[in-house]
Amino acid sequence: MEKGCIWMRRCIVVGINPLHLTHTPLSISTVKSPPPSSSSSPSSTTPFTFFSTHQRRSLSATACAPSLHSIDDDISNPLISRAAEIEFSEGNSKTLLKGMRYHELEKWVQSHGYRPGQALMLWKRLYGNNIWAHCSDELEGINKDFKKMLSARAEFRALSLKEVRSASDGTKKILFTLDDGLVIETVIIPSDRGRNTVCVSSQVGCAMNCQFCYTGRMGLTRHLTAAEIVEQAVCARRMFTDEVGSITNVVFMGMGEPLQNIDNVVRAADIMVDEHGLQFSPRKVTVSTSGLVPQLKRFLHESTCALAVSLNATTDEVRNWIMPINRKYNLELLLGTLREELRHRHNYKVLFEYVMLAGVNDSMEDAKRLIDLVKDIPCKINLIQFNPYDGSLFKPTIDEKMIEFRNALAAGGCTVFLRMSRGDDQMAACGQLGKPGNFQAPLLRVPPQFEKVLNA
Ligand code: SF4
Repeated sequence: MEKGCIWMRRCIVVGINPLHLTHTPLSISTVKSPPPSSSSSPSSTTPFTFFSTHQRRSLSATACAPSLHSIDDDISNPLISRAAEIEFSEGNSKTLLKGMRYHELEKWVQSHGYRPGQALMLWKRLYGNNIWAHCSDELEGINKDFKKMLSARAEFRALSLKEVRSASDGTKKILFTLDDGLVIETVIIPSDRGRNTVCVSSQVGCAMNCQFCYTGRMGLTRHLTAAEIVEQAVCARRMFTDEVGSITNVVFMGMGEPLQNIDNVVRAADIMVDEHGLQFSPRKVTVSTSGLVPQLKRFLHESTCALAVSLNATTDEVRNWIMPINRKYNLELLLGTLREELRHRHNYKVLFEYVMLAGVNDSMEDAKRLIDLVKDIPCKINLIQFNPYDGSLFKPTIDEKMIEFRNALAAGGCTVFLRMSRGDDQMAACGQLGKPGNFQAPLLRVPPQFEKVLNA
């Protein structure tokens, strides 16, 4: 990885606040696989488990390459999927607090004999008031007995800090170790315009095998739990608010295809926008997808947060190659669904991300096709400069050509932005993170008409 990702080449290791290194590794044990969750049931009624510290890290799956016909079917794989029935954890094990929506935390607190008002005080100390508590000792102003119960029964942390790396433009990459020893990456993208963004991961690896993406080379190991996702945003605020100012935006564009883990992603996004907690504006929490159509529809119905679609091609032929999910949900289906779903939405725009690959998707014909493809879809388009890594097939489109492409889209009536190659903009595209191990997802056959340009 250190060689593969251009972002990483710009990184230096910086000091780590010892305050964040106090987490004791938790035991890992085998857990019964929960029943697969229905992909059609609304999240508000989706039952879930209060994972105990003994249970919550035991569902790792072997890294897997996507089969083209089952690329999104892992959503119901009990090895990877997490949602299950409500279960109050008792006995010696502790209950993980992050990952509960407020009403669930309230219920849990009441089940231990305490008042709803105390649940609210706890919630505010977990997520608000510049506390972001990581242990019961940090719960100022909380009743002694309640604190004692929390100390015995509750686990506050879902992640352990491994390392922080900093790019010259201020972008930070945080590596977290999960309780099963796997590592995920989170990125902080500061901006001098008062908009600081945290880019969170939703899976360890990714099954989608987009051909331009480093994370895709890893294959999928497992979904992250809602707690592991929420904790990335909490840690971002806890670690970097003093340095960069308030973290205002969240993008689900780190490792993984968020909508393949939709139960936990929608739950995490709900927790992030809670008005008494982290208080992110739903418009400033953006979930990105490579184009899982059924899950995309479900997301639009269940979440108030923003949606980004990684488009990256204007023909099925090219998209089938660089984003194999297109073989299952092609451009017509993907864009037709968005057109239909957004037709009656007020004030909602989908963000299309378009990574520009020299000689592959950056011609003026592509620009013209793109204008036609997004016609009647309320949208914005981000043109993203590709960041090559060692072994990558593709090269970035040169700046002049990107500007020409942008101008053609603007002249065609599109709202379009250029995201040039800076540390932060590299992180605007999903899939620059991760570290392929022994397993590497297969590269797909290059269509003959592109062989010459890739070999140039
Ligand atoms: S671009 Fe996103 S969806 Fe595609 S392989 Fe990379 S992480 Fe997965």
